[in-house]
Amino acid sequence: MKVRNCSRCGKIYAYDGFNICIKCRREEEEEFKKVKEYLRENPGANVAEVSEETGVEAKRIIEFLKQGRLEIKDEHNILLTCERCGTSIRTGRFCDKCTIEMTREFKQSIGGGKDPKSVSNGRAKERIRVTDKYKKR
Ligand SMILES: [Zn+2]
Ligand SMILES: [Zn+2]
Repeated sequence: MKVRNCSRCGKIYAYDGFNICIKCRREEEEEFKKVKEYLRENPGANVAEVSEETGVEAKRIIEFLKQGRLEIKDEHNILLTCERCGTSIRTGRFCDKCTIEMTREFKQSIGGGKDPKSVSNGRAKERIRVTDKYKKR
């Protein structure tokens, strides 16, 4: 059995595949429920409001957003940015465009591994670059 320090409360716990201990996980689950409940009743609420009303730290709410477990509807309240291109997103870690592109690139790299035709890979990359330039204009 592995033992780790909980990344949330710092206490030692029996590692079972999660970064935080069971106690913190339960607490986090409670917080998540509160936030989710509040957002269901107040769909337009922003992070500051939710934090104030539920007593859950804004930091935690943003954490939930990054995990893609929550989505804040208000367009003026975008706190997250795509980790790949930096565009504003409402939930998760990447924007829709990058998610699609990464899935495509991932599939290509698998295909490229099986078939040693590096030429076709180069061509595909070229195409993506051209499309990006076109979209920026
Ligand atoms: Zn803990
Ligand atoms: Zn992106």
